[in-house]
Amino acid sequence: MSRVAYVNGRYVPHGDASVHVEDRGYQFADGVYEVVLVHNGRLVDEGPHLDRLDRSLSELSIKQPMSRLALQAIMREVVRRNRVRTGLIYMQVTRGVARRDHAFPKDATPALVITCKRIYQPKPEAIEKGVSVITIDDIRWARCDIKSVGLLPNVLGKQAAREKGAFEAWQIDAEGNVTEGTSSNSWIVTHDDELVTRPAANDILNGITRQTILKLAEDRGLTFKERPFSLAEAKSAREAFVSSATAFVMPVTQIDDAVLGNGQAGSFTMGLRDAYFDYMADAAPL
Ligand code: PMP
Repeated sequence: MSRVAYVNGRYVPHGDASVHVEDRGYQFADGVYEVVLVHNGRLVDEGPHLDRLDRSLSELSIKQPMSRLALQAIMREVVRRNRVRTGLIYMQVTRGVARRDHAFPKDATPALVITCKRIYQPKPEAIEKGVSVITIDDIRWARCDIKSVGLLPNVLGKQAAREKGAFEAWQIDAEGNVTEGTSSNSWIVTHDDELVTRPAANDILNGITRQTILKLAEDRGLTFKERPFSLAEAKSAREAFVSSATAFVMPVTQIDDAVLGNGQAGSFTMGLRDAYFDYMADAAPL
């Protein structure tokens, strides 16, 4: 079946979907994006993702391309046309097309692209085994809270992870603390069964999955704290995991050369993963 993309007002075959060479997203990474999970025909955390899109746009003074209702209708139409039951909706808004000049154009119309692709879940054995992460210096800018399409440090970090056979690269700040992965948030579970993740500020993206996991932890009466944690603490933690709309709750069993626990996914992490699956099953149908 051929894929369909929405590009600036038109549904087009994915292979023909393109934007102008002077789109400011292409020229300057002057744009933002969102990724929303479709799970068994349900949109997971649609509202919070659209709220974050609004915030990213307003932090960069990019106009909303259209009303939320119109955007939601197009998201659903893209999912429908691509016949996706489980997959990802990708939305990108840039400041639009204008003659090349760093400063904002006076009257550009924001450009909107929406695509959707299927995803497949890893086998349970792979989840039990967990994934490994490498660590890299965090070389990003000071506004990682904005979900900007300027992702070069993240691209380089993920590539470094790939080349070492790792799933993700955890970024380390000047104090030796873990900020986050290149496309996920980072978590540890201490030997006292406390769930720890870095507080949301300008130095990380406040993941929607992160926020949901914090709520699930609260609902379940788990002990959790939003505080910075060092790489050394992570390496000697009882458990660790990453979270994102794509990976959900993914157990981490190795950080650089340090194997956590017995090298298998831990019970705290798996409990949260199960809780997240229950949460997704309750999401509103499309
Ligand atoms: N941090 C970064 C840098 C990311 O790119 C992502 C994925 N969008 C996340 C965290 C996780 O965010 P979410 O849970 O909203 O997918």
